Amino acid sequence: MSKGYIHSFQSLGTVDGPGVRFVVFFQGCNLRCKCCHNPDTWAKVGDSKLFEASEVLRRVLRYKEYFKDNGGITLSGGEPLLQPNFAKEIFALCKENGINTCLDTSGSIINNDVLALLDVTDRVLLDVKYTENSLYLENVGCSINLPLEFLGILNERNISTTLRQVIIPTVNDSIENINKLYEIAKSHKCVDKVELLPFRKICQTKYDEMNIPFSFAALPTPTKKDIEHLNSFLFEYALNTSPSV
Ligand code: SF4
Repeated sequence: MSKGYIHSFQSLGTVDGPGVRFVVFFQGCNLRCKCCHNPDTWAKVGDSKLFEASEVLRRVLRYKEYFKDNGGITLSGGEPLLQPNFAKEIFALCKENGINTCLDTSGSIINNDVLALLDVTDRVLLDVKYTENSLYLENVGCSINLPLEFLGILNERNISTTLRQVIIPTVNDSIENINKLYEIAKSHKCVDKVELLPFRKICQTKYDEMNIPFSFAALPTPTKKDIEHLNSFLFEYALNTSPSV
């Protein structure tokens, strides 16, 4: 059984996938998003600890009674796709134990191990951070083609998908962007939900502690009304959108 680096656990999460979820934050990220809330997960090892998949399962099982019909485990990060074999072992054990599996990812890594992980993944929360390639290149550090290719694979495999986007005023809060996001959702049958998440700056203290600049520190944060207004352009996904604020 392989071991993997985990940053932290959250026992009863309600914003990372359907229902009540046990959230596992993986250590390490291949991207450097300027809006990132978790810069402490960037380093490959960082302050994390090594865990075996069986130990993760043992922790998840403690909360199984809270999962009811639609809850389960969510792997987040950092980027879970950097440790696909470890993630797959965790999901395979969870599925053996009747626990729903959900993957929160940027969709920026595609290889055979990642494809094997998708074999035991019930839902993907795919962060489509922008709808313009220039914004991806400038603010994320990869091409938009990667998450779009990843979404194509999810669609081929018919894996239930939630598209998520952090709304950052002056950067991606235009109606034009939301319309493009809507078109991306509509052209992939696997997408049954779209979530707009408000940009927040509570992570500033993490950047201060790490002594690195928070690139978006000077940008404003959206109001609840701003998010509701943009949600209204998502038409058929409107019933599925979360309040987000
Ligand atoms: S993919 Fe997620 S964890 Fe990685 S830099 Fe971007 S926001 Fe941060």
